[in-house]
Amino acid sequence: MTETPNRYNLSRRDPHSKPLLSMTEPQNSDLEPTALTANAPTVVPSIIEDIASISMPQEQPEPMPSENFDYDVVVIGAGPGGYVAAIRAAQLGGKVACVEKEYLGGTCLNVGCIPSKAMIASVERLQHVMHADKLGVKVEGKVSMDFEAMMTRKEKIVQIQRGGVGTLFKKNGVTHFEGFASFVDQNTIEVTDKDKKKTKVRARYFVLAMGSSVIHIPVPGLTGGRENDVWTSDEAVSAHKIPKSMLILGGGAVGVEFGYVFNGLGSKVTVIEMMPNLIPMMDTDLGVELGKLLSRQGIVVKTGATLDKCEKSKTGWKCHVKKGGETEVIEVETVLLGVGRKANTDGMNLEKVGVKMHRRGVEVADDTMRTHAPNIYAIGDVTGRIQLAHVASHEGIRAVTNALKGESRLVDYKAVPNCVYTVPEVSSVGLSQSEAEAQGYEVSVGKFNFRPLGKAMASTEQDGFVKVVCDKKYGEVLGVHMIGAHVTDMIHEGVVAIKLEATLDYMVDTIHAHPTMSEAVLEAFEDADGHAIHK
Ligand code: FAD
Repeated sequence: MTETPNRYNLSRRDPHSKPLLSMTEPQNSDLEPTALTANAPTVVPSIIEDIASISMPQEQPEPMPSENFDYDVVVIGAGPGGYVAAIRAAQLGGKVACVEKEYLGGTCLNVGCIPSKAMIASVERLQHVMHADKLGVKVEGKVSMDFEAMMTRKEKIVQIQRGGVGTLFKKNGVTHFEGFASFVDQNTIEVTDKDKKKTKVRARYFVLAMGSSVIHIPVPGLTGGRENDVWTSDEAVSAHKIPKSMLILGGGAVGVEFGYVFNGLGSKVTVIEMMPNLIPMMDTDLGVELGKLLSRQGIVVKTGATLDKCEKSKTGWKCHVKKGGETEVIEVETVLLGVGRKANTDGMNLEKVGVKMHRRGVEVADDTMRTHAPNIYAIGDVTGRIQLAHVASHEGIRAVTNALKGESRLVDYKAVPNCVYTVPEVSSVGLSQSEAEAQGYEVSVGKFNFRPLGKAMASTEQDGFVKVVCDKKYGEVLGVHMIGAHVTDMIHEGVVAIKLEATLDYMVDTIHAHPTMSEAVLEAFEDADGHAIHK
């Protein structure tokens, strides 16, 4: 079962076996689009309007619990892993409860994905209006951000989405316990609510979905929290001010997204990343390009640099930044720690019931998401593996399906999209060029810039490119990497290609609409095949 490890140290198919989907062989007709699906209209309503318009549903009759258990499944944590797992378990006919100590929606909805994207959207709209003259739009008077209104809007979105989770729980008959869960034995937890009242709950299966929380990684001299202008992402999403200047430690997704936001709001932002490029978890070309484009917006990007120590100054912090042999002192109002999270496992008696731990969280025995306690599963951030909301949700669905249907199906991590929501956006799926080469593939690489595309020019969104990595021998698509406008939506073409083990010949034989940004994907595959039309 052990296969070549990829960046997540998870399993992939044998790198040299034939792909499943190749035009050179007869295909399974189930995979061919039908006239019906090809012409089906797509309607994409605003998710906020959608959730707001959901009327209070009739509560479903509760299924009978099995044997002497109160529930078939109890999920601990209502983040994107836990709440999705709970709903799917109920859809499968289980009697289900979900315990949440704080807010429905977890990190993602309350202090992560959603609030940060709401902030990004406000800043992006401001930039559009400020630069509207490029498209012939005349904006008169002073254009500026009402920061309070921006943050109020963000908070409203969070509240509506949070309410949406509660509504879905009611609709699906999921019981919501408010409180902190800890184990009494392998089939019993105790939930302690905010008034210290304790309730024992028994279940056949448990899903650990407690997620992770920010930690202050130690930097000599840097002490305190918001009151001292030392922020983590939690303070950034609930900021009460726009600091005049900010040093962000960490050039990963969180660091660069907040860099984009606060730079766009007028802060003088410096991003420090110890690796040679920003977003080091992605293909090197993406990090290099993002560094260039963010620098052009005015962000000072220092890669290959470390924050050695900080000293309190009258107006904030003096940060000693080391790069090569040189140390530079950068004075800022606020330091934002953009790295450092810890799995939420304290005080839950996990080891007492047979759940094993590793350095970064709960250990899963295998990709069925079972822990070493056979009736207890673990998903999402708490496993210390891939920290992405959509992975948590997918693992949650797999875990409860395995539990309730008695299956042992593995999560397939081959095609996990990874997105960064700066402007320009960045997205990636599969192997980077260097990962593919390190795994022994001989690769064909194709690259196409957005610049010459009619759609990109028409919408003044010409920055960035699409890069594809294919196996030279069989043509299998191994990786798709993009930077530019709308690429977090466009990446799913690559996700499906990799999931279905599609080959280069299939990709170049796929008609792409004109004019669209997605033409760059087709052209990148054409380039890997040796003949891009517009290059
Ligand atoms: P969480 O969302 O952390 O939820 C766990 C829940 O369990 C929490 O609500 C917690 O209160 C509860 N809990 C913990 N212990 C107990 C207990 N003992 N009893 C009861 N309840 C308990 N990911 C993306 O995919 N896309 C993004 O754009 C993105 N942006 C991000 C931006 C920021 C600023 C941050 C910080 C994260 C971002 N992430 C993003 C990561 C994403 O938020 C997490 O990967 C995701 O929330 C993990 O989901 P989870 O269900 O595993 O855990």
